[in-house]
Amino acid sequence: MSNKLHRRHFTTSSPHPEFCRDPQIVDTLPAGSVLPSLSNLAGSQPGRRTFLRLAALPCFSACVASCMGGVPGFSLSAASSAEDDSRFIVEAQFYEKLAYKKTRCKLCPRECVIDDRERGYCGVRENRGGTYYSLVHSRVCAAHIDPIEKKPLFHFLPGSPAFSIATAGCNVNCKMCQNWDISQSRPEQVRSTYVPPQQLAVLAHENRCPAIAYTYSEPVVFYEYMRDAADAGHAMGVKSVVISGGYIQQEPLKKLCHGVDAIKVDLKAFSEKYYKEIVNGELKPVLDALVTIHKLGVWNEIVYLVIPTLNDSDAELRSLAQWIKSNLGADVPLHFSRFHPEYLLKNLPPTPLETLDRAKAIADAEGLRYVYLGNIPGHPAESTYCPKCKRIVIERIGFTVKETHIRKGKCEFCQQPIPGVWL
Ligand code: SF4
Repeated sequence: MSNKLHRRHFTTSSPHPEFCRDPQIVDTLPAGSVLPSLSNLAGSQPGRRTFLRLAALPCFSACVASCMGGVPGFSLSAASSAEDDSRFIVEAQFYEKLAYKKTRCKLCPRECVIDDRERGYCGVRENRGGTYYSLVHSRVCAAHIDPIEKKPLFHFLPGSPAFSIATAGCNVNCKMCQNWDISQSRPEQVRSTYVPPQQLAVLAHENRCPAIAYTYSEPVVFYEYMRDAADAGHAMGVKSVVISGGYIQQEPLKKLCHGVDAIKVDLKAFSEKYYKEIVNGELKPVLDALVTIHKLGVWNEIVYLVIPTLNDSDAELRSLAQWIKSNLGADVPLHFSRFHPEYLLKNLPPTPLETLDRAKAIADAEGLRYVYLGNIPGHPAESTYCPKCKRIVIERIGFTVKETHIRKGKCEFCQQPIPGVWL
C-alpha cells in the first residue's frame, strides 16, 4: 500500500516529479501513460461504491490499463473472456461455509459474509454456489524491477533489485492511496497477464532479483498466489518480501510468516479514529499483526506516512514510538514518510520538513535505534548509522546505496551488530 505505483497523474514529462514518492517508477512508464477518464473521476472524488459502479461500465473497463513497464517478457492482456478468467480462480484458503450457500471470509478482520454470486469488500473474492474463490491467482496487473529501498526495506539485502508485482484489489480504502486505480478496481477492470508462481520465480531469477516483492496494492487479498509464489521462489533461491497494511487475521498471517522472508507494514496512524475515518479499517488487528511478525522472527520494518493535521501530533508520535519499543524492541526500523496530496486527500499540503524532523526527534528520544525519513531525497536520515560509533554504515541518496560498511552483520568500524538480512 505504500511503495506506490505512481502512474495516474504523471507522465514521464510531469512538471511535478517531486510529488512522486517513487520517482523511478515513473521513469519506467511509457510517455503519455496518464489515464484521462480515471483522472477525471479522481477530480470529482467518487466514493468507493460509486467508483466500483462506474467501473462496471464497458467504456471504463477499456480505459483502465496497468503497467508492466521495464520488465522484459511482459505484456498486458486486453479484456479477457470468461474462459481466460478460469486460469486465475482457485479456492480460497481461509473461509467458512454458512447456511443458504453463504460464506464468511476469514482472511482479514473485515470477515465479509457473502451471498452466492457475490464478492467480498476487496472485490477479488467471490462466492460461487457456497464455495469461496480467489479470482486473482497469477493475475498480475503491475510488475516492475525496483530497488529494495523503494519498498522501503533498508535492512534487507540493501542495494538489491526486487521483482515487484501486484494484482487488483485491496481490503481497505485509504483516502491517500496513490495506487487507487488498481487497489480499488476489480480484476476485470485492469489489464493483467497470467504469471503462474513458477514463471514468476523464473522471471525474478533471470532478472537477477534476489527477492520477489508483493506490493503496490494489498497482497493480503492475493494471499494464495503470494504463498504459492513464495514457495516457488524459495525452490529457486529467490526470497519473498511482503509490502502490506497488515490488516490480516492471525491464522493466515502465521502461515504466511513461515513462507516469506520480510514483511514491511504500513502503520498508517496510531489511533482507531484515523483508521476508521481515513483508512476504513482498524488499528488493533494491525498492531496484533506486528507483534506476531516479530514473535515469529520474520524481518520487519514499519512505515508511517505523516499527514499534516491527521496523524502528526507529538502525543501520537510519542505513543507510536513507545509502543514499538515496548512491543517490538528498539531495533525495528521505523520510516517516517513524507505525504503528498493524493486521491481523496488533495485538500492537505505536503508534510513540512520540520514535521518529519520533529517525528524523528521524538522517536530517537524514545530510544528507537533506526529511524529514517522517506520521500526527501538527500536527507541525512536516509542513511543508516551505527548506534554505537555513530558512523554511517549504509549511505543512501534516494533509493541508491552509495556505500555499505556492514560486514557479516556488523559495523565495519566498531563491530557493533546491525540487525537485518545482509548479503
Ligand atoms: S479479504 Fe476481502 S473478502 Fe475477505 S474479509 Fe477481507 S475484504 Fe472481505
